Amino acid sequence: MLPVIALVGRPNVGKSTLFNVLTRSRDALVADQPGLTRDRKFGRGRFDEQSYFVIDTGGLAETEEVIVTHISQQVDVAISESDAILFIVDARQGLTAADELIAQRLRSANKPVYLAINKTEYLNNATASAEFYELGFASVFAISATHRHGVQDLIETILKDLPDDGLEDRPLPAAAVFDEDTDSIHLAIVGRPNVGKSTLVNRLLGYERVITYDQPGTTRDSIYVPLTRDGQNYTLIDTAGVRRRARVHETIEKFSIVKTLQAIEDADVVVLLIDAQEGITDQDANLLSEVVEAGCGLVIAVNKWDGLTPYQREQVRHGLSRKLHFIDFAKIHFISALHGSGVGLLFESVNRAWQSASEQIATSRLNQLLEQAVIAHPPPLVRGRRIKPRFMHQSGTFPPTFVVHGNQVNAMPDAYQRYLLNVIRDTFKLEGTPLRLEVKQGE
Ligand code: GDP
Ligand code: GDP
Repeated sequence: MLPVIALVGRPNVGKSTLFNVLTRSRDALVADQPGLTRDRKFGRGRFDEQSYFVIDTGGLAETEEVIVTHISQQVDVAISESDAILFIVDARQGLTAADELIAQRLRSANKPVYLAINKTEYLNNATASAEFYELGFASVFAISATHRHGVQDLIETILKDLPDDGLEDRPLPAAAVFDEDTDSIHLAIVGRPNVGKSTLVNRLLGYERVITYDQPGTTRDSIYVPLTRDGQNYTLIDTAGVRRRARVHETIEKFSIVKTLQAIEDADVVVLLIDAQEGITDQDANLLSEVVEAGCGLVIAVNKWDGLTPYQREQVRHGLSRKLHFIDFAKIHFISALHGSGVGLLFESVNRAWQSASEQIATSRLNQLLEQAVIAHPPPLVRGRRIKPRFMHQSGTFPPTFVVHGNQVNAMPDAYQRYLLNVIRDTFKLEGTPLRLEVKQGE
C-alpha cells in the first residue's frame, strides 16, 4: 500500500500547480500518450525510492455553491482518506477566514498536517510566513509551487515522517489467508460511481455469498473476496463494497478515489467498468492512466449494454475506438452486469491479461527479435550518427519491461520505441498489459 498525501486549501492557493509538481515524473511518462494528461485530481508521485499517491481534494467535491460546506467536505475527505495532509495557503493573499476554518477542522484530525505557504518567490520568507504561524501548526514550509522552491524539502519531510511499515491501521484483507497458500489472481473491479460495480461483483459471486463477506472497514478499504472459477483462484478486490449501507451519503461512502487507487496498486488485473450510456468520461481516462502507470493487466468492460438500441450501440463503439486508440492493448467487452450477458467471457480476457503481464521472455529470443526489427526498419540518424541498438533483455514483469542497450539509444525517438514494443507485443502475443521500454546508452 502506498501512502496517500491529500492537498487541502481554498480555491486558487496553488493546489493543482503543486499537484503537478508532486506527480511530475508520471506526467513525463505519459506525455506522448494523447488523452492521458488531463486535469487530474489524483495521481502518483515518486521521490527517491519512495512512491506515494497525491489527491487534490479541492477537485473532488463537485458542488461549490456553498463555500463553507464545500471546504468542510474537502477537509473530511482529506482526513478520512489520507496518511498526511498538506494544507496550502497563499502568502500573497495572506491569512483569510476560510484558511482559519480549514485549520480549525484540521487541528482536531488525528493525522499529521503540514502547512505549505505558497507563492513565496520574491518574498522575504520570514515576513511572508509570520501571520500563518498563528494557525498553530508545527511543520511549516515556505514554498513556491510554480518555481519549485521548497517542494523537495517538504516532500522529503512528509515521507520521512510516515511510519515505515506504512499504514498500520488498515485491517488485513479478508482473503489474506487464502492468498498465502494458493496462486490467486488479484482482480480489481473499478469504475466511477454507478457504472455497475456492485451489480457485477454480485453477479460474479452469486447473490447468496455476499452476506458472508459483510465485514467492517473504513471507507478507504476494499473488500477482498476469494473466488474460484474453472480451477483458477482469484482474489476479487471489490471497491464498491457489496454491502449496501444506509442510503444517506451513499455515494460518498461507496466511492472513494483512494480506495480505487489502492485497489489498482494491489491488483494483478483490473476490470475497468465504463457506462455504455455515458461513454468515456475524464474520470475514466484518469483511471485508465492509473492502470497503465501501475503496470497491471487491464480489461475494459462496457456495462449496461442491454439498455441500448442497435443504433446507439454503433455510436458507442465508434466513440470508444476514437477515445481508446491509445490503449489499444486492452480487450473490450460489452456486458450487462444486470442480466449477466457477457460476464462469463470476462474471465478469459482476465487470464490472458494476467499471463501477458507476467510473461518472461528469454534474452536470446529478444536479441533475435531486435536484430530482425532493426533490419526491417532501421532507426533514424541523430546529428548525422545512427542509433545502434545492440542488445535487449527483459528487466521485469507487471508490466513486462524491456531494456535496450546500444550506441546513441538515449536519443531514440518515442515513435521508434513504440515500434519496438509493437514488434514485441505482436511476436509474443501479449494482450491486455501495458509494456515498457527503457534505454541504456553504452557500447
Ligand atoms: P488551486 O485552485 O488551489 O488548484 O490553484 P491553482 O494551482 O490553479 O493556482 C491558482 C493560481 O495561482 C494560478 O494562476 C497559478 O499559476 C498561481 N500559482 C500557483 N502556485 C504559485 C506560486 O508558487 N507562485 C505564484 N506567484 N503563483 C502561483
Ligand atoms: P456502482 O456504484 O458502480 O456499484 O453501481 P451499481 O452496481 O450500484 O449500479 C448502479 C445502477 O446501475 C443500479 O441502479 C443498477 O441496477 C444499474 N445497473 C448496473 N448494471 C446494469 C446493467 O448492466 N444494465 C442496466 N440497465 N443497469 C445496470
